[in-house]
Amino acid sequence: MKYLITGGAGFIGSNLAQELSKKNNITIIDNLSTGFREFLPKHRNIKFIRCDLLDKNKLIKIFKGHEIIFHLAANADIRFGLDHPKKDLEQNAIVTFNVLEAMRFNKIKKIVFTSTAPVYGMNKIFPTPENAKMTYQNSLYGASKLYCEGLISSYCEGYNFQSWIFRFVSVLGPGYSHGHVFDFVNKLLKNSKKIKILGDGKQKKSYIHIFDVINAIKIALQKSDQKVNIFNLGHNNYINVNKSIKIIETLMNLKPKRFYTGGKSGWVGDLPFVFLDNKKIKKLGWRPKITIEQGIKHTANWLLDNKWILRKRK
Ligand code: NAD
Repeated sequence: MKYLITGGAGFIGSNLAQELSKKNNITIIDNLSTGFREFLPKHRNIKFIRCDLLDKNKLIKIFKGHEIIFHLAANADIRFGLDHPKKDLEQNAIVTFNVLEAMRFNKIKKIVFTSTAPVYGMNKIFPTPENAKMTYQNSLYGASKLYCEGLISSYCEGYNFQSWIFRFVSVLGPGYSHGHVFDFVNKLLKNSKKIKILGDGKQKKSYIHIFDVINAIKIALQKSDQKVNIFNLGHNNYINVNKSIKIIETLMNLKPKRFYTGGKSGWVGDLPFVFLDNKKIKKLGWRPKITIEQGIKHTANWLLDNKWILRKRK
């Protein structure tokens, strides 16, 4: 098969490319805005094209001859969304429109899309099932991803596309370059005596390891054949922020004094509880194999072995 991965130089995309290149030819498109050349897997089946997805005409040429588009490129940062409100519109909504149009032009019908738990907004049902009501949105990121999902399902309806949409909780593992483990490790390397924690430390979050994510994507593609296939992807449980900082402190052999900024949410748009119902993907035979604790340790160890990323991605 000939696959194309947008955002393939990023955390999730590079791991996915590595796995899929074992049996398929892969084209990676990335503008390296938050991705890294160092992440690009070195495999003869992988071709890298540096390109900005806002350039629709270029996409139309590059997409030719591919069978499935894995659309991962995005502004994946939730926290700083309010600093640049146009970014989620451009990098998520418009870019997704360009991807769908380039597919339509080239008669490519299959798309895999990486969505996110924040599309459920300030939902109150936990674990949250795929058919939960989408309550009001509290982040530009969540709102833009919800729009992308709507756009994709409309293309499925209108142009006979087929889609696999995955709503991830926070993903952990090698290549992790943003998120709470990154922040804690980074802060502790700079100052091992004290640490500032956003919120009250009681926020409850589910996580999932990248290896389990990739396995789920492969299983869903093999076994789920609806027009629009939507799956939550998260662990069977969750952990609170205090516990996860404790795991990192123990691993780094540190006992910093903790300071809390206070409040149930760490920042505007932070969801105090994220826990997705994973029954639907489990029905296909998927199970998470790496516990949240193992995932946090693996990620922290990877960051400590790859400190270059802490310097490059601030
Ligand atoms: P990432 O920032 O590491 O990867 C995104 C990649 O897209 C980067 O390599 C970046 O350079 C590229 N990119 C961004 N805009 C582009 C553009 N206009 N043209 C070309 N390339 C562009 O993020 P990630 O964590 O690997 O996330 C991948 C996908 O998964 C995103 O869609 C994200 O929203 C989604 N997701 C991630 C998580 C998580 O915990 N990491 C959770 C839920 C959903």
